[in-house]
Amino acid sequence: MAWRARLLQEFAAICAVDVPLAARTSWNIGGCAQVLASPRDVAEAGRLLAWLEREQIAWTVLGGGSNVLIADAGVSGVVLCLERLNRLEVVAGTTVVAGAGCHLARLVAAAAAAGLGGLEHLAGIPGSVGGAVTMNAGAHGQQIGDVLVSAEVFSAGSVATWPRQRFDFAYRHSAVDTGAVVLQVVVAGAPVAAAELRRRSRAVLERRRVSQAVAGRSAGSVFKNPPGQSAWRLIAAAGMRAARVGAAQVAQQHCNFIVNLGSATSAEVVELMSRVQAAVVEHSGILLQPEVRFIGTMDTAARRLFAPPQQMLESRE
Ligand SMILES: Cc1cc2nc3c(=O)[nH]c(=O)nc-3n(C[C@H](O)[C@H](O)[C@H](O)COP(=O)(O)OP(=O)(O)OC[C@H]3O[C@@H](n4cnc5c(N)ncnc54)[C@H](O)[C@@H]3O)c2cc1C
Repeated sequence: MAWRARLLQEFAAICAVDVPLAARTSWNIGGCAQVLASPRDVAEAGRLLAWLEREQIAWTVLGGGSNVLIADAGVSGVVLCLERLNRLEVVAGTTVVAGAGCHLARLVAAAAAAGLGGLEHLAGIPGSVGGAVTMNAGAHGQQIGDVLVSAEVFSAGSVATWPRQRFDFAYRHSAVDTGAVVLQVVVAGAPVAAAELRRRSRAVLERRRVSQAVAGRSAGSVFKNPPGQSAWRLIAAAGMRAARVGAAQVAQQHCNFIVNLGSATSAEVVELMSRVQAAVVEHSGILLQPEVRFIGTMDTAARRLFAPPQQMLESRE
């Protein structure tokens, strides 16, 4: 029996076939998932993932879609959607338990209401809690990894509790890589008056409103900041402000954002990012690394940008 039929036999209640993914991303770009699976709780997610591994069926996780570029050709295998894992609970007044599918904004608001400091600078970052932990999302010197206590993570065939140390958090990096899925997290914050936390979050949102006032759909910063440098400054200095390929354009207002002017394709974004990367190497000798992640079948151009051979990286350094 073909793999899709076997999957539907086992998990019919949570699977849908040939599901368009563009609307599930902040860029509004990308093709379809062969199957989209939306488990209803942590246990079901664990069972599904273990089954997929046993059956050797390819799978990928899509969180809030605010930091991904999805291939125009779509994604083969199963795309895991965790939006139903949306539990959010303040425990003993000091910690918050949040499902991976919760909006990060809900977690930030719940922590503020409970008087738990340490997440207020994450206000305004789109996406899910699971995506934020995977990317170690952050702003203004605060990252989610700073407040994470532990998480339920699927890896190597089963769900286990990972303590914070296991995540190896660094700038926009965690040890949650291919093959691991964050399903639920526990975060703890230092006690701060709720009114003060709300004031700080409002200030962060205002700063964001001014600095990120880009017209068009984006995925936030497309490149990581190299140590001690700002990617947007390097891109501006290389003359790439407002550079355009098709309907993908480097934002006027923030050169590290690429906006979809309406009907941009994944291939156009890849081409524009590659041109920006080449211009910055030419101008400053620095090879910018993508912050956004690519999901789906890679063509040569996408592979060169998102999974460059080590040799190429070394020769450009
Ligand atoms: C306007 C705008 C502003 C932004 N500002 C910031 C900012 O200030 N700081 C910042 O850090 N980021 C920022 N971002 C980027 C983005 O919001 C964050 O990286 C966010 O945390 C991504 O979460 P997500 O749920 O959308 O993940 P997705 O984009 O869906 O996924 C990102 C990656 O994580 C993987 N993933 C998602 N969920 C899981 C999971 N549960 N388990 C394992 N892997 C998973 C995906 O496979 C993918 O590789 C911004 C984006 C936008 C559009």
